[in-house]
Amino acid sequence: MKADGFSDLIKAIHQLDHYQRKTLSIALAEFSDTSQAFELIESHFDSVGVCPHCGHSKLYRHGSALGLQRYRCRTCHRTFNALTGTPLARLRHRSKWLDYLETMIHSLPLRQSAVEVGVHRNTALRWRHRFLSWLKRDRPDALQGITEADETYLLESDKGHRQLTRRPHKRGASASKRGLSKQQVCVLVARDRAGQTLVEVTGKGAMSKAQLTEHSKPVLNTDAVLISDSNPTYSAFCKTEHITHVAVNLSKGQRIINGAYHIQNVNAYHSRLKSWLHRFHGVATKYLPNYLGWRQALEQHHNISPGAFLRAALGDFQQLTVT
Ligand SMILES: [Zn+2]
Repeated sequence: MKADGFSDLIKAIHQLDHYQRKTLSIALAEFSDTSQAFELIESHFDSVGVCPHCGHSKLYRHGSALGLQRYRCRTCHRTFNALTGTPLARLRHRSKWLDYLETMIHSLPLRQSAVEVGVHRNTALRWRHRFLSWLKRDRPDALQGITEADETYLLESDKGHRQLTRRPHKRGASASKRGLSKQQVCVLVARDRAGQTLVEVTGKGAMSKAQLTEHSKPVLNTDAVLISDSNPTYSAFCKTEHITHVAVNLSKGQRIINGAYHIQNVNAYHSRLKSWLHRFHGVATKYLPNYLGWRQALEQHHNISPGAFLRAALGDFQQLTVT
């Protein structure tokens, strides 16, 4: 707002009636509630500082809208704000975001979150997945030293899908086919002894060597020692990639080799993951990567603040480690 306009606004305050003064003061109070979220969003943008359309950094300020600074790019001349091009663009009720993120930090089920924050269930669902959309990209830089790997399987779910081609599963349904089938979605967990963890959905049915390579090769150090069960996919992968491999033959009752080689940390991770997922009463397979990212953030970082969660939702994971 220009200086003239602002002084007119201040003068106009004296002309307000009782009802208008009350309305204005509610609006101002709401605005100061939102300021923390806005501050975080703006300061995140200051650290990025580039046009979301073309990536150039020569910008100038171009007014503001809905409480956020607008910018215009000197290169492509398009306008934007700190949320343009992020999963949070155009989401409303920003004053409630931090409270909502607090409910996510406590892993509250959807209905409870919605009630706590005072938004509709559909809004709460949309927010959940928008906040997780980039958060799930947080991956370890490298898995090093002794690294355990094992897959676990979750039943495929169309939950929330409107056009079911088959009768929906009842909650807690089990696969109609015994053993591994395409109804099972494979989740690979690899974890080094420093606790760095890679969690990836590899696809439906048993994990192939190509899938294992695709997901683990970018993060697994070549001098790591990979521990797995006797699934031959791991030994084939390690042979090709020249990675030292130790297989624990669980079916023969073997659990630990040389006092150090086991996959118990990864198996404990699987069981914590499954019991955590239980509260959501089955998650849609298309959203599974979001839930895995959410769980992983809670596993990896203790005492996450709502503000750090918000910045992570915008792709800045540095704050998560600050306690
Ligand atoms: Zn631009």
